Amino acid sequence: MADRSFLDWPFFEQRHRDWADRLDAWCAKNLPVDHSDVDAACRDLVARLGEAGFLNPTAVDTANPGPLDVRTLCLTRETLARHDGLADFAFAMQGLGTGAISLFGTPEQQQWLDRTRAGKALSAFALSEPRSGSDVANMDMAATRDGGDYVLSGEKTWISNGGIADLYTVFARTGEAPGARGISAFLVPADTPGLEVAERLDVIAPHPLARLAFNDVRVPASAMIGKPGDGFKIAMSVLDVFRSTVGAAALGFARRALDETLERAGSRELFGAPLFDLQMVQGHIAEMALDIDAAALLIYRAAWTKDMGAPRVTREAAMAKLFATDRAQEVIDKAVQIHGGDGVRRGHIVESLYREIRALRIYEGASDVQKVVIARQTMK
Ligand SMILES: Cc1cc2nc3c(=O)[nH]c(=O)nc-3n(C[C@H](O)[C@H](O)[C@H](O)COP(=O)(O)OP(=O)(O)OC[C@H]3O[C@@H](n4cnc5c(N)ncnc54)[C@H](O)[C@@H]3O)c2cc1C
Repeated sequence: MADRSFLDWPFFEQRHRDWADRLDAWCAKNLPVDHSDVDAACRDLVARLGEAGFLNPTAVDTANPGPLDVRTLCLTRETLARHDGLADFAFAMQGLGTGAISLFGTPEQQQWLDRTRAGKALSAFALSEPRSGSDVANMDMAATRDGGDYVLSGEKTWISNGGIADLYTVFARTGEAPGARGISAFLVPADTPGLEVAERLDVIAPHPLARLAFNDVRVPASAMIGKPGDGFKIAMSVLDVFRSTVGAAALGFARRALDETLERAGSRELFGAPLFDLQMVQGHIAEMALDIDAAALLIYRAAWTKDMGAPRVTREAAMAKLFATDRAQEVIDKAVQIHGGDGVRRGHIVESLYREIRALRIYEGASDVQKVVIARQTMK
């Protein structure tokens, strides 16, 4: 049983504790799911999470608009990740894929949100390109004005939910200015002619992922989210909300690794005593527990700060993501070590955690990029 004492920290209100309890009970009944067909599994997870109401925090409620609650987003990702990485992924993409629409969309664009919150439509966030991952402002994809339309041409890659999403938030160069100030955001329904899956990408912890080709994809000017040239700012505002939640997913993986380790160290006998009795193992467990609590403090500090109305939490979110993802990698590595041979056996939970955690140190800003961000904020 994972340590839940952190829920008593002053960052949370009673509604957060109730939410975490309800979600944990749902997860215990419904997760993990079979990962053999990740497309089918994700569609099914989105439908079931939506039906149960657990996708509600991912986007603005059009009937009762208000800010996204980052603490709920983090608690949900942490809890889902502890039970099943694919469930966390399915939840996370509903938020990231629609974040720009929640924050900057017109009422017409926001009509999509009722469907994504209900689990009836899947969303994706299409920012990265083959030449511009970390260097986002260097993107090539063009959106050219043609009468009342924009025509999008180019490629996006590493797009989570690519191929199964119903709508894409797409960033493209509209050329108001060079670099970051010449990018705009668009809402592109998946069935728009010219939008094609160029390649499906297979990674060490498989989930739906694709390179997309935009072959003269024509959308009306009303598909633009926010103003011309605001795309980079919009992308950064979305990441400002969701970056801490990547840390929260890492925290969920780390908590699961510690739970599995405690179970193993208590039941495995070595040299006539439980593994627990070896001081070196106790040292590992102490470091794991310390990393988990420190990560949780940084994550919920960032989430609480945002929820209290801070316009940006650049520094807090970068610290939370960097520390939580890097330390979760260490925590999980220790869990693998303490499990001995079983730790590297395909299909063992700690083996899958070892694969699941890796990409979190790369996407939504690699660890190195977070260090640059923290240094710049600190030196200001
Ligand atoms: C599993 C997965 C899912 C993803 N999902 C999405 C998605 O849904 N939508 C989307 O748009 N993108 C997505 N991405 C893309 C992801 O955001 C990029 O992979 C990431 O931004 C890094 O870009 P890159 O792969 O081009 O690496 P590069 O930009 O080539 O960077 C390579 C490495 O260089 C180092 N580096 C980069 N910049 C700096 C710097 N300033 N200082 C020091 N070192 C630096 C880092 O170690 C970095 O990992 C996903 C990626 C993965 C792996």
